[in-house]
Amino acid sequence: MLAMTVYVGIDDTDSRTGMCTTYLASELIREFEEYDLIGYPRLVRLNPNIPWKTRGNGAICLRFGKGRGGKFPVCRIEDQEFFAFERGDGSLSPSEFEEGVAKVVESHFMTDDENTNPAFVVLSRKPASSLYWRAVRDVVALEDVKRLVSGNGLYRVYKNGRGLIGATSAVSWRPRDRTYEIITYRQRDKWGTERALKKGSVMAMDERFDSTFNNFDYEEDGIAIAPNSPCPVLFGIRGDDPEDLVPAMSAIRGEKAQRWTIFLTNQGTDEHLVKRRIRNIGKNQSVIVQGKVVKPPRRIQGGHLIFRISDGDEIDCAAYEPSKKFRKVVSELLEGDELTVYGSVRDKPRTVNVEKLQINSLKAIKEKEGNPECPQCGRRMKSAGSNAGYRCRRCHVRAGEEKAKRSPVARPISPGFYEPTVSARRHLSKPLKRIQN
Ligand SMILES: [Zn+2]
Repeated sequence: MLAMTVYVGIDDTDSRTGMCTTYLASELIREFEEYDLIGYPRLVRLNPNIPWKTRGNGAICLRFGKGRGGKFPVCRIEDQEFFAFERGDGSLSPSEFEEGVAKVVESHFMTDDENTNPAFVVLSRKPASSLYWRAVRDVVALEDVKRLVSGNGLYRVYKNGRGLIGATSAVSWRPRDRTYEIITYRQRDKWGTERALKKGSVMAMDERFDSTFNNFDYEEDGIAIAPNSPCPVLFGIRGDDPEDLVPAMSAIRGEKAQRWTIFLTNQGTDEHLVKRRIRNIGKNQSVIVQGKVVKPPRRIQGGHLIFRISDGDEIDCAAYEPSKKFRKVVSELLEGDELTVYGSVRDKPRTVNVEKLQINSLKAIKEKEGNPECPQCGRRMKSAGSNAGYRCRRCHVRAGEEKAKRSPVARPISPGFYEPTVSARRHLSKPLKRIQN
């Protein structure tokens, strides 16, 4: 018999009003305590432009079997600590897991939200990673996914079943770039109430653990690790080194967490982005486009800034109000500046919602200082009318408009990378801290 472990994938149990798919990871770990967990639980973010997504478009995947190699802590529920193994094998059948997973999913999903369409899969093999790449960058058809999972395990869908796409895609992820997140959860009686976390402790943690990112919004002077939704999450700390996460979590003061789980994730990797020519940008995609500013920024209602770039074809780009200082940089752009724009594309009106910006070069601008001097007598020449050049009153010598004295004007911005403030960033966007480290 072939040695088989099983992969459990779940998606779309959360809603705008409560719950969070990640919460189910610890529930599954406890439910399947008699099995070994292999590797970190995974939290996989998928295409942020899917119009029917729930909050963060995140799905989870856990692998069970017989653990081999070293073990490390991945989860704690009250006083009970759970570990995962580096490697594993096994002779498990997906059907052993069906009822247990169903029980966990059905007792947690938000049935009242029409956008919550849960599903789970239990698979013996990972589907090809091409599924993940399509799901993070594009739109995947439900029928395609059903074909992929049949014969490779089992699945169950609820309501319209769209969650099957995320659940299966999460299983198919094979990390290239990767980050980690420790997510802590609240005591049940606190769900829906305000979170009480000490701001100073979050700032101190941010200072002390350099491998973590997006912790504190210094521009807004606010905590960025805690959500504002009524979900069970107390806070989440993201970082590049999983071993820093438990000490970082322990440095946060305030409300006590009831449990925590460490996830391996694709957050902060920019994997949703694809380099494209403007004419090739499709629906619901996120892109990296290079172009020249052809229409400088203008402010629209709500304080948003819209500018247009061209690479032969043209597209509008938008910096939204919550991006603050970033918007200030954008407001200084001028026609002729060369940019690389990172962002997701909105279809109507067709606009790139800018997630990050690289200024490659700034157009040199000169300001007219004064009229030219006469090449014969050296006196200051006079204007010969608008756009008609200059003329010396004494010698009657003429000079073109381009002969005016000009001096270069310093631009208030410089080439380099710029990103929105911490709390305006997307789960998948790679923070500059990760680019520059
Ligand atoms: Zn003259």
